[in-house]
Amino acid sequence: MSLIAPQPGIMDIALYQGGAAHVDGVANVIKLSSNENPLGPSPKAVEAVRNSAAGIHRYPNTDHAPLRAAIGEMTGLNPEQIICGAGSDEIISFLCQAYAGPGDEVLHTEHGFAMYRISALAAGATPVEVRERDRITDVDALLAGCTERTKLVFVANPNNPTGTMICAAEIARLADGLPQQALLVLDGAYAEFVDGYDGGAALIAERDNVVMTRTFSKLYGLGGLRVGWGYGPQPIIDVLNRVRGPFNLSTTALLAAEAAIRDTDYVEHCRAQNSRWRAWLAKALAELGVPSDTSCANFILARFASQTEAEACDAYLQTQGLIVRRVAGYNLPNALRITVGDEIACRRVAAAVAAFKGGTA
Ligand code: PMP
Repeated sequence: MSLIAPQPGIMDIALYQGGAAHVDGVANVIKLSSNENPLGPSPKAVEAVRNSAAGIHRYPNTDHAPLRAAIGEMTGLNPEQIICGAGSDEIISFLCQAYAGPGDEVLHTEHGFAMYRISALAAGATPVEVRERDRITDVDALLAGCTERTKLVFVANPNNPTGTMICAAEIARLADGLPQQALLVLDGAYAEFVDGYDGGAALIAERDNVVMTRTFSKLYGLGGLRVGWGYGPQPIIDVLNRVRGPFNLSTTALLAAEAAIRDTDYVEHCRAQNSRWRAWLAKALAELGVPSDTSCANFILARFASQTEAEACDAYLQTQGLIVRRVAGYNLPNALRITVGDEIACRRVAAAVAAFKGGTA
């Protein structure tokens, strides 16, 4: 059998690893490897999922107007400048499909989210990795990394997997310094965890070269339903809508997302819990000799003395039913990314790291 070759670049995409939720032979496993909401979805979103069942023989709404209106109402943004996708992953993919192709470059930071590279390669473009400074996005390095072929610059703020973020003035400096043909994509998957941060909305109001992406998978607890959105200048949203499949979001997902974003009490509760237990966990691990940078998201990047120690701790945590994320693939071999769980999860992580460090492991 002769195999038909895929488009150039496709075989450079590494298959995605991760997401396991169990450890063979271990009970009471807690998954802390995908930055999900440990408190689960809003009960109102669950009710919306149930209520959606009777209508699933119909195709879903195609323009997502009710969800865009709800997002607009809750954020103050113009619904006409919003596009919804199957996770923000899909918005990232639309951006690459629409704006980058063979010969074009897509910049992302050294420890940037894996989808930037995957989507750039899938579009036939060339991903270009730019170094960070001490695990923090380096605007000067990004500006220096731009060429006349740069079409997209992806910056997650806060960044995954480092948890760090840069200030609005730095982002503005980046947007203003980009070459004319390049679009800045501010990935705000974790923006909701930062008090008072608009994800870049104010910046977009004054510029035509910035887009932001957001998600319902993190604070809103809907990772399994795949809902994300993008916001930007209307002409760019119009472009993205042309590559969007007409039925890219299911009825169930649309209704659940609308209920989730409207449930402000629950959202506030989740946000407060995250802040509280993130600080607690970071302090507890630091006291055990495992420091992390100040995280602005719902995870911490715990740094060990060596790759060997990080791997050994990961293996030990698994025996204790705690699944965290190795980030060696992000060029962070000494680190483990740990989602901030609920109180029980955080206490279990701290106790297990203490046992590991104390040699009782
Ligand atoms: N951006 C960043 C920085 C992320 O960490 C993630 C999920 N891990 C995403 C985007 C994609 O999230 P989703 O597709 O679930 O919206």
